[in-house]
Amino acid sequence: MAGNNKRAIIVGIPGVGKTTVIARAAEMLSQKRKTTLVTYGTLMFEEAQKMGVKSRDEMRKLPVSEQRRLQETAARRIADMKDDIVIVDTHLFISTGEGYYPGLPMRLLTIMNPTNLIMVAADPQEIVDRRRNDSTRVRDEASVEAIRNDLDFSKMMLASCSVLTGAPFALVLNDNGKADDAAAGIAKVLGEGK
Ligand code: ATP
Ligand code: MG
Repeated sequence: MAGNNKRAIIVGIPGVGKTTVIARAAEMLSQKRKTTLVTYGTLMFEEAQKMGVKSRDEMRKLPVSEQRRLQETAARRIADMKDDIVIVDTHLFISTGEGYYPGLPMRLLTIMNPTNLIMVAADPQEIVDRRRNDSTRVRDEASVEAIRNDLDFSKMMLASCSVLTGAPFALVLNDNGKADDAAAGIAKVLGEGK
């Protein structure tokens, strides 16, 4: 990867506005540099489809060993991307019966070798409202308190990823009605801001 190229992993809890903000940041960045936007789950699903899996729900029901292999293949594809800026939209963890399951375990961080780690955050009450009002998706309802905990836990987890990889960790706030400011914040972190 050339000196100034960026491979940024962007995380945030469901409904915080990652996809919205990243799309705008990519628009801003692509005016000057070749920018690619990838959704980790979509890459995994593309790989799963090659082996005959028909839906994302079906993918989640595959044996854990199979899901791990899909995760690794997706990470390798990201590592191989040569564009100036590669932005990866992903989740830092999913809540399971066993506890928080990491979306970025060390073995995947090692493969992807990110240059930047960025967490999108927002006010917990605003996140509750965004989940409720977004009719395009089915997200879990959660209390403000539970969301506050998930945000706190996200910071700890991404800070750990930063220590392990040496990639800087930036926190970007996505306040209500200010998705463009959050996008500009991401563009700035990636070296293209004013
Ligand atoms: P997931 O992890 O579930 O994919 P996400 O973090 O990608 O969630 P989005 O789909 O981008 O979240 O946004 C969730 C909802 O919040 C959408 O309806 C979106 O339009 C809205 N939204 C995003 N950012 C803002 C903002 N700054 N102000 C108001 N609404 C917002
Ligand atoms: Mg999304």
